[in-house]
Amino acid sequence: YRAPLGNTYWTILISYEEEDIYVALTHLRNRLILAFALLFIIISYYFYSIAKVRNVLREEAKRKAAERTIRESEERFKKLSELSYEGIVIHNNGIGMDTNDSFVQMVGYSREELIGCNVIELLVIPEFQEIIRKNLKEKSPAPYEVVIRRKNGSFFPAELVAREIKYKGEILRVAAMRNISDRKKQEKELLEAKERAEESDRLKSAFLANMSHEIRTPMNGILGFASLLKEPGLNGEEQKEYIRIIERSGTRMLNIINDIIDISKIESGMMEVSLSETNINDQVEFIYNFFKHEAEDKGLYISRKISLAPNNAIIITDREKLYAILSNLVKNAVKYTNEGLIELGYSQSSDVLEFFVKDTGIGIPKNRQAAIFERFIQADISNKMAQQGAGLGLSITKAYVEVLGGRIRVESETGKGSVFYFTLPYKTVPPGIVTNDSESFADSDSEHSGNLKILVAEDDDASALLISHLLKKFRREIIIAKTGIETVELCRDHPDLDLVLMDMQMPVMNGYEATRQIRVFNKNVIIIAQTAYAFSGDREKATGAGCNDYIVKPLTKKELLDLILKYFSN
Ligand code: ADP
Repeated sequence: YRAPLGNTYWTILISYEEEDIYVALTHLRNRLILAFALLFIIISYYFYSIAKVRNVLREEAKRKAAERTIRESEERFKKLSELSYEGIVIHNNGIGMDTNDSFVQMVGYSREELIGCNVIELLVIPEFQEIIRKNLKEKSPAPYEVVIRRKNGSFFPAELVAREIKYKGEILRVAAMRNISDRKKQEKELLEAKERAEESDRLKSAFLANMSHEIRTPMNGILGFASLLKEPGLNGEEQKEYIRIIERSGTRMLNIINDIIDISKIESGMMEVSLSETNINDQVEFIYNFFKHEAEDKGLYISRKISLAPNNAIIITDREKLYAILSNLVKNAVKYTNEGLIELGYSQSSDVLEFFVKDTGIGIPKNRQAAIFERFIQADISNKMAQQGAGLGLSITKAYVEVLGGRIRVESETGKGSVFYFTLPYKTVPPGIVTNDSESFADSDSEHSGNLKILVAEDDDASALLISHLLKKFRREIIIAKTGIETVELCRDHPDLDLVLMDMQMPVMNGYEATRQIRVFNKNVIIIAQTAYAFSGDREKATGAGCNDYIVKPLTKKELLDLILKYFSN
């Protein structure tokens, strides 16, 4: 079967061997189709390959860009972490992966030592490791405080904040650590300052209440018994008893005023030290005798222990201050002991003297033993009214001991008693030097009677009267002046005056000015200044104005007579 020719064209071309030509043409046609098909496949493949290569290249570029971004980000992170003052550590469940310089500096371990090791166990002290593990588990980012141990064994408090991060494909934790030693110190100081302020406030109130009590009680005695004295019909014994009470109350009030003045001198740096040869045996003996009656009246046994021979017992120190120290301690021992004994004395070892005052009294609780040496502090503030005292004695005593080169301490047990110890440097006076230390406490006026013409410049009648009485044995004649001007005039009118007792605070013209004017025409008369302010500059001020000497009110008979003997003993 031959397929009919499809159209005229073929019919025209095929002139002979029609069939063969047809077959040939069919073959040719098939080949052409095949060739085109192949060409098409090749071209398609070509384009497909190009597209594929482009894709790969694009992917590669993307990957490289991503890698660059990661590298840059890593570098940025590294730079930031190197710049940071905070220590940064990246860890995987505690195992160190990376860290910065600050961290290395903080802990003292090298980077190499930290990487690969459990930094929690290495650095955090055991008590705080649990906190870190808990925070790790709870993925808590909140800051928390731990204590870090450095490589050298020292510790510091640190604050940590932690976050989860993706690092080199893993989920890790980055922790930033800050040394908070300074902050802790400041917090502590702030807390201490606050406590001190509160304590000081509490003490101020306690002190005011106490002072009020301390001053009112003797005032009560003085005014009460002074008015009782006016009552008619008192017998001699009663009068004497009332006067004794008035004297005791006055002394007590004077003591408290002296304490306040002493403490303000100490606080304002005006405390002076006056060194002289001092026989410590005499001091102990004097204090012993002074307190013997008071102790025995209370039913206490008092004893003293001295261990140096008289020749070796003379040291150079401030005698008045040593006396004040011993008398404060023994006064307290008597005050705070209800039964048993009191012992005072000293021991010597090489160049140190250690004095002690021991009692079997109420004792001092351990937690108050340091505080009692501070001003206005009493061992038991709540119960302070139980005993007399303003809480000043021991702080004055401590300041005195320290200014003399010693230390004071206490050993005590509540209910059993206390021992106060203080040291003083032991340096003896070379033999051969005669000391004038041994004080005579006898009533020194008994063998002296005088022939002095005395001018008392005093605007206060009671004080003038007191001085006249005290000077009874010495006076030939006594003249009283009430103002500075009057004093100068009387001095001019009586060139034969031996002594002027000059009150420095007089109206119209004060004692300093009056003295200056008297010195213009009378250089020889002895002028003794009396002031009511016991401040150290007063002496210089008085002598600067031309006074020979200086005495502080209230005058005691002994002090006044000692001064007069100093100038008129022969
Ligand atoms: P005060 O005027 O209160 O006696 P001090 O400074 O002398 O002041 O003493 C401070 C406190 O120390 C006293 O209030 C007391 O509580 C305690 N104290 C001092 N000495 C003794 C002692 N020998 N026995 C017991 N307590 C003492």
